Amino acid sequence: MKYKSCEFLRHAIMFWTNEIDYCCHSGIRFFEFYKIKNSYNGETLDWDLLMRERKTQLQNMKEGNPSIFCKDCQYYEEKDWDDWEPYINFIIISHWTHCNSNCIYCNLDKKTKMKPYNFMPILKDMKEKNILKFDGRLSFGGGEPTLLKEFDKIMDFFYKNNIASVQINSSGIKFSKSIEKYISQENTRLTISPDSSDANTYKTIKRVNKFNDVWKNIKKYAKAQKNNEYGVSTKFILLPFEFGVYSNASKEQIKNWLILSKESMVNSVIMDIESHWYAHYKNKLDKNHPIIELYQYFEQEAKKLDLHIEYYAVGELIKSLLNQ
Ligand code: SF4
Ligand code: SF4
Repeated sequence: MKYKSCEFLRHAIMFWTNEIDYCCHSGIRFFEFYKIKNSYNGETLDWDLLMRERKTQLQNMKEGNPSIFCKDCQYYEEKDWDDWEPYINFIIISHWTHCNSNCIYCNLDKKTKMKPYNFMPILKDMKEKNILKFDGRLSFGGGEPTLLKEFDKIMDFFYKNNIASVQINSSGIKFSKSIEKYISQENTRLTISPDSSDANTYKTIKRVNKFNDVWKNIKKYAKAQKNNEYGVSTKFILLPFEFGVYSNASKEQIKNWLILSKESMVNSVIMDIESHWYAHYKNKLDKNHPIIELYQYFEQEAKKLDLHIEYYAVGELIKSLLNQ
């Protein structure tokens, strides 16, 4: 039967620093996530209750009364949905904020220095209660995942259970043996966002002096990816002109960054646009905006270098604007 629903509301969960959410996709539009539970700090969860609440939300959605967060969301889609079953197969682990980078666009409140709650007990509990299925995806948000004390254990837990897909977002500053160990598996994707093609621009955007370390690590990971062709992706978050001194929005930066990715043996590149800027300017964006020209330039130059191109959330939205 055809109706409107969402894969995230059906089977995803996002563990955040002090709450649990269905997804993070309302963030760009509302600066708030669609919550499952407030004030969470690693306590054992009542999964029966959480699944009953999820079922109610899904029923509301099916009847055409989704949460305000979902109404205009790109993931709220009409199609033939299978009968819903109460399990989680997409888990986003994002319960810490500490990071070895200090990006000017970072959303995280790093001043509060919240200690991350222990995550392995949650995973073990989910597995014991048959809530967790491994045919979906594990994604690390954060904070910088390689700084998490439990990072290697979490990775081993999911890989031992044959997780179908893993997405790791890392600053790339600290080299991880665990990522190196698993990056050659075809189900594994690592994304690193250097956002710049020279040390000065990197330092202005990231506010740490780690340009060379990051590209050295990218190269090491790319070497370890072997036949996992798109295992390592570099991401360029375009900071439009309104960022002034911080902007990386030039053809020169984009071109040199793509060349650097290619020289580092990366086969896959990702284009995105800074989300705060997008939230502010989205109604003024049209095909003639200078940022769109850079976006198209990125595509054109990446194709010349035979690089596989992907888009994250805002990048996708721009792509649909161009296709209108
Ligand atoms: S429709 Fe969008 S906001 Fe709603 S649960 Fe799905 S991804 Fe999240
Ligand atoms: S790498 Fe990510 S978590 Fe770290 S400062 Fe940058 S945006 Fe924030």
